[in-house]
Amino acid sequence: MLTSRRLFGTNGIRGVANKELTPELAANIGSAIGTFFQAGNLIVGHDARTSSPMLTKAVISGLNAAGCNVLFAGMAPTPALQYAVKNHGADGAVIITASHNPPEYNGIKVVWNDGIEISREQEIEIENIFFDGKMRYVEWDKIGTVQKLIGIIDEYMEAIKKHVDAAKIREKHYHVVVDAANSVATLAVPKLLRDMGCKVTTINANIDGTFPARPPEPRPENLKDLALTVRAVDADLGVAFDGDADRSIFIDEKGEIHWGDKTFALVEKYFLMWNPCEKVVSPISSSTLVKDIADAYRGEVVWTKVGSVIVSHTMKKLNARLGGEENGGIFYGLHQAVRDGGMATALILNIMAETDKKLSQLLGELPKYFIEKGKVECPSELKEKVLERLIEQTKGLNTNTIDGVKIWFEDKSSILMRPSGTEPLYRLYAEAKTKNRAKELINDFSLKLKRIIGSLKS
Ligand code: MG
Repeated sequence: MLTSRRLFGTNGIRGVANKELTPELAANIGSAIGTFFQAGNLIVGHDARTSSPMLTKAVISGLNAAGCNVLFAGMAPTPALQYAVKNHGADGAVIITASHNPPEYNGIKVVWNDGIEISREQEIEIENIFFDGKMRYVEWDKIGTVQKLIGIIDEYMEAIKKHVDAAKIREKHYHVVVDAANSVATLAVPKLLRDMGCKVTTINANIDGTFPARPPEPRPENLKDLALTVRAVDADLGVAFDGDADRSIFIDEKGEIHWGDKTFALVEKYFLMWNPCEKVVSPISSSTLVKDIADAYRGEVVWTKVGSVIVSHTMKKLNARLGGEENGGIFYGLHQAVRDGGMATALILNIMAETDKKLSQLLGELPKYFIEKGKVECPSELKEKVLERLIEQTKGLNTNTIDGVKIWFEDKSSILMRPSGTEPLYRLYAEAKTKNRAKELINDFSLKLKRIIGSLKS
């Protein structure tokens, strides 16, 4: 983790607790973060992992040593902590969480005073302080304080309810099954839904940092128990969260699991119907559905590189009020421009209540695509060159090269080819109106990539 002058990955600092991410390292990172903020008041909170209380105490020590006052919010969903920053006028936040990573991992997320994670430029400032050993240790009478911050989860839930027609949702008496991943979603979502008149059945709702029931990433293969429960209790909706409750995946009343860009497209459709001509921000890895909906309902899609922090920053820059990712991240800027699983759940219920339609029906009304995936091995040192060649060879086609190469074809099919950030390979995602066409695209472009890689090797 410390082989280069880099601490931060795509979503904060991550590592295996007590191996890569030790209390000693966490305290030093805390000091570097505190030095970056130059004192001030920072909210600190954490997820349900076994290592979170230990690492949180170490980070707080480092922040205090650098002169920062800490408002300690305890265990809470990441979006509740982000909302608290703005709501309490704090200078920022430090969140101890590894989101959807396996149980042995933990991480440190740094949030600016707008509730959004800091930019890459700001991360570099912290990395420079850390690697140059420029941490500030203040005089004994300037050491920061720790105060408890009570009630942020209630404030967060109240804020969410203001953005939907809670009275209309209440009339419907929806039955919702919540799969809280044995983590922090359990602290907010069941109560939020009961407050809106829903009957709530929970699974995996006991806090347990070993994540005994399922991995903390809400992938379809991890959600079979939820799908079964939705059918068994005849619920209207099922929703599963990741380890820090910023991502949510939805299951319709028939027990069918829907991937994130589909539910995002549904939210987008009604958002644009009610707010025409708005910009919608989404990573280039999202489905063409997102563009179809924007075209049909007078919106404009702004494609970004893949990464939730990039979506948030782009929304802020463009004053866009909606963003979404294929992995179940929905960013509702009227509430906050960060992904928020509780807000997403309230939005889905709001659409069901306003339209008086079931989720399967609402999703069935969206354009349909078939998705196929593939991968091609590629030595890491060739990735850049391969990308250059690919861009060269696809000139003249309808492409976007913001992150890898995405090509859209006349028949509404598309393919995205991106070098993996961590493994020696290229990943391919094809989408088409028929399964065969999607498969054909994967085959054709795998061959094309292999040819390019082969020619560069020789
Ligand atoms: Mg997360």
